[in-house]
Amino acid sequence: MTAKIIDGKAFAARVRRDVAAHVKTMKERHSITPGLAVVLVGDDPASRVYVKNKHASTVEVGMNSFEHRLPAETSEGDLLALIARLNADPAVHGILVQLPLPDHIDSALVINAIDPAKDVDGFHISNVGLLGTGQKSMVPCTPLGCLMMLRDHHGSLSGLNAVVVGRSNIVGKPMAQLLLGDSCTVTIAHSRSQDLPAICRGADILVAAVGRPEMITGDFVKAGATVIDVGINRIDAGAGKTRLVGDCHFDNCAAQAGAITPVPGGVGPMTIACLLANTLTACARSHGLPEPEGLTA
Ligand code: NDP
Repeated sequence: MTAKIIDGKAFAARVRRDVAAHVKTMKERHSITPGLAVVLVGDDPASRVYVKNKHASTVEVGMNSFEHRLPAETSEGDLLALIARLNADPAVHGILVQLPLPDHIDSALVINAIDPAKDVDGFHISNVGLLGTGQKSMVPCTPLGCLMMLRDHHGSLSGLNAVVVGRSNIVGKPMAQLLLGDSCTVTIAHSRSQDLPAICRGADILVAAVGRPEMITGDFVKAGATVIDVGINRIDAGAGKTRLVGDCHFDNCAAQAGAITPVPGGVGPMTIACLLANTLTACARSHGLPEPEGLTA
């Protein structure tokens, strides 16, 4: 079988164009410009790159981008004070605190201080609860991106067997909730699951969010299944170089799958696109405007 490659880069470009079109309309018809505030504490090199990319993408779709770069020694109190100011600022519709935060700051306390309506990462405990009970919420960006690609590929997901490998709060659990919301029969597997290959072979949709390079091989994949590889792992490529691979062994899984996301160029690009989509949704909701279609769960 030759698997269809689900091109996340092209899909994300489409989502960004869609968001940009909505932003333009919002500006023209309502004189509203959606705004995203990103808070970075410290100078972790990877986080700095993420924040830079988020800023560039935000500006590219016509939104306002508010960057707050704070020194690593910023106190928890000062960070909470900034969150309170952003919560109260009507020009800010989305707030994202780049994780991880320095050890002296309680991440859960900070995330839960964000106004849930502006919590575009979908990590606030209220949004977690709303998603878990099937209510309108802000949905974490990476699983939302996976859901969009799955809906685009399958149309309806109703009745399909989905296996999510990984139970983290940011990917595995919300992914499972979203698939359940679309009426899949969902299994969540993790490091204690027994006979993981057999569990995975029952999947029409297999989502890998494990953080272990190329762990999922072809013998985990049912013929014709759709494989969504969330993993981003940097491995040694010899000669002092590195390369990115997913949690799935691409060639091996592609030989079995009906469709598969590559790494890079699969789920990764969808994450920032969904951050923009969430900011647009938050802005629309805060002004009582209709939510943009196709950009929410
Ligand atoms: P976590 O480390 O938080 O969670 C990993 C999960 O995988 C855990 O639930 C763990 O189980 C499970 N696991 C670990 N080893 C095994 C194993 N041998 N068999 C079965 N399950 C196992 O990772 P995240 O969810 O944060 O991220 C997962 C991957 O997705 C990473 O590669 C990360 O880089 C990537 N990622 C990509 C994003 C993107 O934008 N594309 C965004 C976020 C993450 P247990 O709970 O039992 O320990």
